[in-house]
Amino acid sequence: MGEVVLEMLDVWAGYEGTEVVKGVSLKVHSGEKVVIMGPSGSGKSTLLKTAVLLVKPSRGRIYLDGEEITSGQVDVRAARAKTGFVFQSYNLFPHMKVIDNITLPLRIVKGYSREDAEKKAREILAQLGLRGLEEKYPLQLSGGQQQRVAIARALAMDPILLLLDEPTSALDPELKAEVLDTLREVAKRGIAMLVVTHELDFTRDIADRVIIMEDGRIVEEGDARTVLENPSTVRTRQFLKLIR
Ligand code: ADP
Ligand code: MG
Repeated sequence: MGEVVLEMLDVWAGYEGTEVVKGVSLKVHSGEKVVIMGPSGSGKSTLLKTAVLLVKPSRGRIYLDGEEITSGQVDVRAARAKTGFVFQSYNLFPHMKVIDNITLPLRIVKGYSREDAEKKAREILAQLGLRGLEEKYPLQLSGGQQQRVAIARALAMDPILLLLDEPTSALDPELKAEVLDTLREVAKRGIAMLVVTHELDFTRDIADRVIIMEDGRIVEEGDARTVLENPSTVRTRQFLKLIR
């Protein structure tokens, strides 16, 4: 396996003194696709946010691209700019056209000229089958298109790690499929991905590793086939039965 892009070591995190991530350690290697599953409230979203310090851990260490981002010595925004985050429901800027949604972070965070940013945005949109949407506003798009634009925006930043938090759970089934197809394409690009999803077929297709969380802890971890077909705990078996 390649180098480690993300390492979390005994990380604890939560809200107002209540820990909801309780001593999680995990590694994501360069190009690796890791899927996280687990019941609602088990801390999956908090874990993803903590990985890029959108939630501040109370204990533990986190390394991104070989640099300890929990040391207090690093520029957290610069470190976070190496990653892309796609949330459950589209987090596009509603008052901006698709093209501007994508070029804005390129210009502000990466210092691209307007011209270079637009070139890059059009390229990515074309690659994801979204050509023609450049001048539209988010509310003129379907939910699936909005989510694919959010993915395009994240990819445009050339992240070393893409974090996706239930990217299809807010979508109707037919829109879900188009977003999952886009993510299958993205998975071929060799970017490391850490994805919270309960989509089993998708997980079997892309995941190098599956992690099951329960009550803030990793309770099961392994290759997709082992974890999904032959989990070692009764509770994981019950959970998988519920989402099948
Ligand atoms: P999951 O994504 O697995 O459903 P979350 O990480 O969203 O789990 O939530 C874990 C726990 O943290 C839940 O009990 C939830 O209510 C709580 N929680 C999540 N976000 C916040 C927040 N912003 N403030 C307070 N509590 C929160
Ligand atoms: Mg969640």
